[in-house]
Amino acid sequence: MSGWKDIFKETLRCTQCNLCILGCPMFMGTRYDHYSPRAIILLTRESYLRGGEIPKFLKDLIFICNLCGNCDVRCPAKIRITEVVKILRSYVLGNT
Ligand code: SF4
Ligand code: SF4
Repeated sequence: MSGWKDIFKETLRCTQCNLCILGCPMFMGTRYDHYSPRAIILLTRESYLRGGEIPKFLKDLIFICNLCGNCDVRCPAKIRITEVVKILRSYVLGNT
């Protein structure tokens, strides 16, 4: 994966099953499911479909994420969530 189109394709595999959220420190700290890897994936998909502009809340999420990787190992669809986060960070910081 290297760009927007790649991460968009990755997000299409998400079934919103929520299995990723229980290991996520963002969710465990807030108990608010908007702070979760599932939310990152859903908002990334929506952002791509709306032309690629990343909303402030998604920007906040990708920089709060500590890249622990707990979501990656829990996702039954094998979505590489930490890779999505890293690519989005590069995009936001203008490194792509
Ligand atoms: S890598 Fe980020 S989104 Fe995934 S579980 Fe860790 S903090 Fe949450
Ligand atoms: S575990 Fe994977 S498929 Fe399920 S909600 Fe999280 S990212 Fe989507």
